[in-house]
Parts: sequence; C-alpha cells; structure tokens
Amino acid sequence: VGSSAGRRGGRWLALAATALLAVAPLLGCASAERAGPSALPDPGSAVGCALEKALLSGSSEALVDLGLPAGEVARWMTVRRGPDGVEGTEDDAWVDVDSAREVLGEARLARLAAEVGRSDRWRCDAVSLQLLAFNDFHGALEPPSGSGAIVRTAAGPVEAGGVAWLATRVRELREAHPGPTLVVAAGDLIGATPVLSALFHDEPTIEALDLVGLDISSVGNHEFDAGRDELLRKQRGGCHPTEGCADARGFAGARFQYLAAGVVDEATGEELLPPWTVRRFGRVRVGFIGMTLAGTPAVVKAESIVGLRFEDEATTANRHAAELRARGVDAVVVLIHEGGRHEGGFDACVDPAGAIVRIAGRMSADIDVVVSGHTHQAYVCELSGKLVTSAASNGRLVTAIELALDEAGGGLQGRRATNHVVSREGEPDPRLVELLARWRALAGPVVGRVVGAIAADITRRPTAAGETPLGSLVADAQLWAAREAVGASGARPDLALMNPGGVRADLIVESSDFGEPPGAITYAEAFAVQPFRNDLVVVSLTGAQLLELLEQQFGYVRNTPDRPRVLHVSANVRYTWRADAPAGERVLAETVTVDGAPLARDRVYRVVVNSFLAGGGDRFSALADAPAESTGMLDVDAFVRYLEAHPDLDPPAPGRIHRR
Ligand SMILES: [Zn+2]
Repeated sequence: VGSSAGRRGGRWLALAATALLAVAPLLGCASAERAGPSALPDPGSAVGCALEKALLSGSSEALVDLGLPAGEVARWMTVRRGPDGVEGTEDDAWVDVDSAREVLGEARLARLAAEVGRSDRWRCDAVSLQLLAFNDFHGALEPPSGSGAIVRTAAGPVEAGGVAWLATRVRELREAHPGPTLVVAAGDLIGATPVLSALFHDEPTIEALDLVGLDISSVGNHEFDAGRDELLRKQRGGCHPTEGCADARGFAGARFQYLAAGVVDEATGEELLPPWTVRRFGRVRVGFIGMTLAGTPAVVKAESIVGLRFEDEATTANRHAAELRARGVDAVVVLIHEGGRHEGGFDACVDPAGAIVRIAGRMSADIDVVVSGHTHQAYVCELSGKLVTSAASNGRLVTAIELALDEAGGGLQGRRATNHVVSREGEPDPRLVELLARWRALAGPVVGRVVGAIAADITRRPTAAGETPLGSLVADAQLWAAREAVGASGARPDLALMNPGGVRADLIVESSDFGEPPGAITYAEAFAVQPFRNDLVVVSLTGAQLLELLEQQFGYVRNTPDRPRVLHVSANVRYTWRADAPAGERVLAETVTVDGAPLARDRVYRVVVNSFLAGGGDRFSALADAPAESTGMLDVDAFVRYLEAHPDLDPPAPGRIHRR
C-alpha cells in the first residue's frame, strides 16, 4: 500500500484511513520522483499554488462554481474529510494535487487549473491569522467582582470580564482583523465555577463559550473535577445521568473541540480526547495541540481521574508536533494548561519563572506558539524561541496573537501578541445577555435564598501564620456538620482541616445582585465560597500521621517554606510553626493541642476533610492512604447548614495557628 504503484492503480479511495496515515510521509517523495509529461501547472508556479489552494480549501460550492461536476466534488470532499466526515481531524487523508489527480482525473484538473488561473480569488498570498486566546475562564458568566475582576493597567486598576463583554470584545477584534480569526483557550473553562454555572453542571458555560465563538480548547485540571464521563458529556452532549436536563432544551454539548494530548486511558492506551486538530486557511494549515499539566493528579480529587494517566508535557507536545510537521503543517500552536509568573504588567514579560519556562525550554523547534494558563497570570513572553502567552483568568483579558503565514510555501513568517482588557464598555453581546437571563431564571429560586447572616466581612486575608477568618469558619462548619451527620450513634469526629485553595470567595456584608439586606448571605454567596461540590469525609490518622501531614505544609515539591500551604483548622486545634527550622521540624510538635490536650502520637484522631484532600490533593500524601468514610454530605451543603444554624456570625478570632 505504501508504494506509488498502489496509488497509480487508482485505488486511493479504497485505502483505509489508517493506511492513508501510514503512507502520508512518503507521498512527498513519491511525487518528487514522478516523471512524465503533465498538463498541470508546476506546483511552484503561481497557478500551481492557486490550483492546490482551491483543491485543498475550496468549499463544495466553490469547486462546483469552478466547473467541477457535483458528483466529483462530493467524492473529493469525502477524501478530504476522512472517515469521520469532518475536516481538521486526525483521520483526514493527506491530500495534495497528486491525490486530486487520482480522484478527479488529469483532464478535469487541467481545466480547473485554467479556471483558477483566471481569478484573483485563489491566488496564493500572505495569510494573517488571528488567534484570540484566553484561559482559566472558570465559568465567569456574570461580570466577576473583587480581585477576580481587576486588571492592573498603567492607568490604574480596571474592572474587567463578564461573558457578554468577552463576546463583544472578541467580535470587535475579529471585525478589526483583515484575515481569518480563530478563538482558542487553554483550559479550566469549567470547574470551580460560580453558582450560575455550577448549579447546572457547567452546561451554561459550555453554551456561552460556543456563542462567544470558541473553536478549540485544551482541557485543564478543572475539566476533570466531575470525572471523565462528565467531561466527555460536556463535549458530546446529553442530559446529566442522575439530575437530567435543566429544561426541555436539553444539552447539545460543546461545538468547540476539547483537546487532551497526553491524557491516556490506561485501559485502552488511547488518549481520552483528540490530542490535536489541524485548521486550514487557504493553502496554509495550522496544527493545534491541547493538553493539561502533567501534575493534574495532584490538584484533582483522586476519584475523578481513576484510570487516567497524565504524561509529561514537553515530551507529549514534541511527539505530536513532529506528527503534525510530518503532515506538512505550516505552524504549530500548543494550548497548555500550565503556566508561569513574571514581575511585569499584563502585556509584558519581566523575569519570567515557573513551570512554563522549563517546559518551553524542552519544547522542540517544531512548536511556534504556546498559549498557557493555570497560574491566572498575564504575560506575553518570548521563551526558548517560542511566543508564550497567558491571559489571567475569569475572562478579564483576551490575547490577540497574529501569525503571518505564506501560502506560497514560506510557512510562518512572523508572529506577535497583545493582551487586551475585556472592558465593560459598549454593548454586552445580546445573545449572551439572553442566554444568561434564561439560566438565571432557572437558578433564581435556589440561589437567591437567604441562608444566613454575618456581622462583618469574613475574608481570606491571612495572618503571618497563614490563618484566615473565612478558612477558620469553613473548618468550623465542616467539623460541626460532620458531627451532626454522624449523630450520637457514630464515632465523633475530632477536628477539621481545610485546604486554603478550596476557599474561593470572601463573605461580604454588602448586598449582592439579589438585593438581600446588608449582612444577609444568599445561597449564591455561600456557594461562591465552596464551589467544588466535594464530599465531606472523615479520615482516621494517628497523632504521628497528623504531625507528618502538618509538616507537609512546608515541603514536598510545591508546598515550600517560602510559600507554605497552611491548612485551615477547626477552633479546637492550636499549634506553632517556624519557617527557619530544619525540614521535618517546622511544626513544633509539643505545641500541637486538640481540645486543649497535647497531641498523642499513638491515638487515632478522626479528621474531617473534603474528598480532594482525602485523596492526597495539594500533595498532602499523608492523607492519601488514610482510611476514609464518607459523610454523604457535600462541602457546600455543610457550609450552608452551618450558616442556617448560626445566624449573625462574627469573623472567627485569629490565634489558632502561631508562627515563631
Ligand atoms: Zn488549573
């Protein structure tokens, strides 16, 4: 099958898709060696280039207009699209003028060449492709508030974001650009979302991003929050398996394509979703590889990713980029949900650091552009010969990346990028305004309900020891709720621990959109604090294991003494730590008390945590193997019940954790 003889036999259409893939790299050589007179123009000539452009990118209608019979055009389109009937996917045949000759015949091709040569429309030219990129959208349908809305510009802080404004800015940038535009993203579009999206399993966000015009996104760690089946349902559609659909409209799934290179189903050895896609613009093609961070298992609860393997980012990207180059793409863009940080403004790159710097350094020269994410930072960097961008989070920024491509075979000629603020100026996109109104009407009865009240703002502002008022409140709520759930019959939980990253918004006195009185807390506000829908579980740890767990706040790869990850503790726990002590001794063991009694190393303590921590999340490996029992309660439900049972809450006083 791999020989040119097979192709001369006119059996192109009979070849299986896999065989087409196998011969793809050989075709270039085969056509170069082909001898004999041809009625077709030289591929390097202007007419030859125009002919190829028409064949490879012309629509069915355009090819019929050029005089090809409709039946022949349909046959050609079948070859171009591959077995799945969609262009730009992995099963597409490698097509060129030679393969067209096999399908259409030389005489027809010669007439087509004459026809395209008469028109300017098919002339090979420079293509200016615009990519509009964002990342870590996190279901920010409503304009985000607080620090999640701020972009620090040279003129001062600006409030930005809101999906209807994102759509407006995308439309403006699209209209202002003379060439084609593609909208791409780098993951965490869903998961850890506000209640309007989370209440409906993030279906509202998928629908909204389709309306924004999103074409392609990598998965991020949060795409796995609800497990692989839910991720696949987001892509393919269908109602939620237990809760059904929100209304009679049903859920169609994303029109945009999720990519998941390096996310391998261990049962089959296959990637869970396509690793890449190729998009054609005239005669040039651009390959997009999408991936999440290899460290995803450390930041997603273990039960959500059972049976999945997450492979090294650079190795995976390089392997797929080589495949794409072998198919002759003109540029390769990697959408990766991993990032870095820097010291400059949102459109700059000053002293870049972090994982993406190391990953870019290991990426091959096949890769031109890297759209990154995960760190919620904003930058436009040049790293190891690649343009590397990121656009903060919550739809506050959109990156406009311009790629200058040459249709006549010159490939990528230039590239540049600018981060634009998604300002709330002009008209929000009316299609998004309507979509949000529809979802809001469905959510209103649930989320506008007042569930409690606070006497003063309860925030995530940490003390020097890493304690925060809201974190303390969440830990107290979890211990109280777990004790309620266990009741008098079961073994009483002793204490609660909460990961700081899971406390996502402050509780503020000011009224929200629902117009409740100042101090009143709506379900929506409580949900914003605890949006992950984790189960509450009770793990059994000895005092010695508990000490080891506390020590892991300061070590173990990511939790370092400079940036400790101090767990929030319930009110009955006290301890002191010091940063300058040697590793393994930072928590002063003799200071740890539970209910006023010194920690007993041999005693088993029943510790309330969420299922993310219980699975060893945030690299707290001491928890991963501990015996765990579910309380059957979601963390958000525990928090809401606590607020209901404790009206007029004051911020918890500091002093649980001390630093020396
Ligand atoms: Zn992330």
